[in-house]
Amino acid sequence: MKQCAFKALRKVFLITSGVLSILSFPIDGQAKNDWEKLQSTHFIIYYKEAPLDFVQGVEKAAEQYYGEIADNLGYTRYESWTYDKRAKIYIYNDQEDYVVSARQFKWSHGSASVKTKEIRTFPSAHGFFDSTLPHELGHIIFREFIGFSGQVPGWMDEGVAMYQEKAKRWGANKAVKQAIAAKKFMPLHELTYMTLYSETPQETVDLFYSEAASVTYYIITELGKVRFGYFCEKLKQGSSLDNALNYAFPRIKDLDALNKAWLEYLKE
Ligand SMILES: [Zn+2]
Repeated sequence: MKQCAFKALRKVFLITSGVLSILSFPIDGQAKNDWEKLQSTHFIIYYKEAPLDFVQGVEKAAEQYYGEIADNLGYTRYESWTYDKRAKIYIYNDQEDYVVSARQFKWSHGSASVKTKEIRTFPSAHGFFDSTLPHELGHIIFREFIGFSGQVPGWMDEGVAMYQEKAKRWGANKAVKQAIAAKKFMPLHELTYMTLYSETPQETVDLFYSEAASVTYYIITELGKVRFGYFCEKLKQGSSLDNALNYAFPRIKDLDALNKAWLEYLKE
């Protein structure tokens, strides 16, 4: 299963931020001169050797997803990205360029920097149009809306991003059911305090993403996207996770109740 580097990178950055900030300056400065630029209403796309029709395809798809994602999440009031608020998409030449120049993990096919609204990827990234692009845009739109003051667990960031993918991580429910049968299931309170590192076993990483996709799919489709919008409004106001759940979803009083309701849904 493919993962993005959203959360993992943040952790690595915290550990080695001093080193990264020193290293990143000259490399970014050098690379800037090489970028071509394509501007649209809500995006500025930077590319080097990628063919122009590919870049135009990225522009068209990004604009379309931009409109769809806020609606998918039940956001009725969402500030538009125009002029200097446009998001930036960097298209590296290939995986090697992406890993080396953008300093990304080898297993990552795309990454998003939420605060600067930047997406980095490369043309042959697995499922670029159907998965990577909507996934990374999902990260940015979710976080831009709720901000950083509320208590939002990593699984929710990833779950919301995966929900934007065309296939919505089809197969996630099945993987979670298998984990339950094998007694490997991680309840939400455990998932909430989990951090993924580059040395975390692949099986654990995969299960983290499957559970995140499954529970988020459950929340948005079963509990409802309009209510999910209320939930996000509450988080935006700095509410705790339990309070936001309790406010938006009458049946769900806290994280354990959500875990229980989700498990019941999986049994159906
Ligand atoms: Zn992600």
